[in-house]
Amino acid sequence: MGYDTLLFTGDDDWHMIVIALKEDRIIITRDTQIMKRRVVTSGRLKAIFITSDEPEQQIQQVIENLKLDCQLRPFTICLECNQPLLERSKQEVADRVPPYVLQTQSEYVECPACHRIYWKGTHWQAMTRKLQRFKEELTTL
Ligand SMILES: [Zn+2]
Repeated sequence: MGYDTLLFTGDDDWHMIVIALKEDRIIITRDTQIMKRRVVTSGRLKAIFITSDEPEQQIQQVIENLKLDCQLRPFTICLECNQPLLERSKQEVADRVPPYVLQTQSEYVECPACHRIYWKGTHWQAMTRKLQRFKEELTTL
């Protein structure tokens, strides 16, 4: 969706809270203990408690809670690094993508940090449909 996100995989909640405060992030969690912390209850740090086990319902809750626009700038930043992606020509990526991709795709983008190449393949199409559906569901609420 083009929003800057960070997956915290450590086990020290306080470390995550420090990062969130420093980088002005919102914590999205299923951990009730985090919601009870003073830094959250006081409103100093915004946190969203995810209620569902289903990934689709989880993203729906985040979209609704933060009033996100699913289609504002989809596929504009790297999934791994949050870096804005740069357009690349077919020639520039020719030796870095599988031959069948090169034959069928004409638009490519590259992450300037990890140099991962993205193209509008089946994953992109599936995600686009999903985002469209999220948007439709939200506008019918
Ligand atoms: Zn990257």
